[in-house]
Amino acid sequence: MYAFVITLILGVLTMGILASGLAYMMKSESDDLQRDFVLIADYMNKEQGIPENNISQLSKLSDTSISVFDERHKLLFTTEQDSDAAVFVDRYENHVNVVEYTGTNRMLIANPVSPNNKLPQEIFNEYGFALVLNDKVGEGSSLKYVQIIDKLTQETAYAGIFVITLLASEVFFIIVIVIIGVMASKRLLRPIKQMTDAVNNVTINQLDMRLDITGSQNEFKDLAGTFNNMLDRLQSSYEMQNQFVSDASHELRTPISVIQGYVNLLDRWGKNDNKVLEESITAIKSEAEDMKNLIENLLFLARGDKDVQKVEKKDFNINELIDEIIRETKLIDDNHEIICKRNEGISIYADYSLIKEAIRIFVDNSLKYTPEGGSIELQCYSQNNNAVITVEDTGRGIPREDLPHVFERFYRADKSRTKQTGGTGLGMAIAKWIVLRHGGTIKVQSEINIGTKIEFTIPAKI
Ligand code: ATP
Ligand code: MG
Repeated sequence: MYAFVITLILGVLTMGILASGLAYMMKSESDDLQRDFVLIADYMNKEQGIPENNISQLSKLSDTSISVFDERHKLLFTTEQDSDAAVFVDRYENHVNVVEYTGTNRMLIANPVSPNNKLPQEIFNEYGFALVLNDKVGEGSSLKYVQIIDKLTQETAYAGIFVITLLASEVFFIIVIVIIGVMASKRLLRPIKQMTDAVNNVTINQLDMRLDITGSQNEFKDLAGTFNNMLDRLQSSYEMQNQFVSDASHELRTPISVIQGYVNLLDRWGKNDNKVLEESITAIKSEAEDMKNLIENLLFLARGDKDVQKVEKKDFNINELIDEIIRETKLIDDNHEIICKRNEGISIYADYSLIKEAIRIFVDNSLKYTPEGGSIELQCYSQNNNAVITVEDTGRGIPREDLPHVFERFYRADKSRTKQTGGTGLGMAIAKWIVLRHGGTIKVQSEINIGTKIEFTIPAKI
């Protein structure tokens, strides 16, 4: 495209240069003819005749053909070998094809193609042009016409060489431009090509590949950097997802193996042994229950990730919910002291059962991780247009290094999974999702062997 535009510009430029060059040559040639004519007229006036020798000399010098005619246009003298070629070119005769008048007595004529052309071919040059001067000398009976014809041989030769050199250098120039252009665009597009190849190679199993950004130009660096960042995010979320799936399968395998174990036991000895039968059924029931809980939790988080978990908000007073939880907790647990000193009636707009679920998760943890005789305190108060709910226990606490991870899925501070304390490790993740989904904040403070305090907020209804 660029090469084409440049060719076009060069073409126009060449035409311009050629036209002005030709115009200049024509002008100087036409001036030369006029000078010759003045000389001849001078001789004729002085000698009262035709100065044949002088005219012949002039004709040779300036490479022109000179003829003299009488007042009736009859040939008197010519420097042409063949006198048929010496024809009076009458500028007022309309079959003379005048290209341009270059002076009052001079004109550039072209070989007309018309059939009534009376001018002989010999007076024109190979391109069909001739420069003609035709003027009269003397008066009355001694009036004569002098006609000088210049075939412009030198000028056309010059023009030819000029055009050829110009065209040749232009063709060379265009070839060079095309080569440079192709090379430059290849060089410029190389990073894009590399990027395309690299991106084509990215697969789900090869997310660790990154684009090399050293040495590329700024724009490409930005693009490659953006792409690398995207790969980082994809990779980390993919790894998280993978981890989640493998943790979930792992968690499901334990209850299934236990169930399998009891079924085998039953199969071998249990059919007639009432004690084994009873124990197995209880165990299988409990494992199945655990599995159901785990799957429900997993489904909850999956719905949360896909943002399809139903959140049905309504107006209610948070203190009623807290009272309800305290009542229920006291019913199922009498090993701990449940305290509630402050329970302000704050109206919130939220999903009742989800908020209840979140508080239950915290209370369950407190019950689970607080030795018998310990106390669990619930509080609810208003602060900065928020309902602040705290669940505080006097339990074993969470080690400092585990604190940042307690909201991660399947994370458990205590790696040993005993039946009493071993949950799924999803509770805190679910609770956090619920709080964040309601536009609240959550934080946890804990001190080993002193206790744990969970504090979360839900925006109050104004
Ligand atoms: P589940 O999903 O059945 O509740 P879980 O209780 O193990 O299992 P989370 O509720 O998510 O899982 O809690 C994550 C971990 O944080 C727990 O395993 C425990 O180590 C720690 N933790 C949470 N609450 C407390 C607490 N009140 N006291 C001490 N440790 C706690
Ligand atoms: Mg828990």
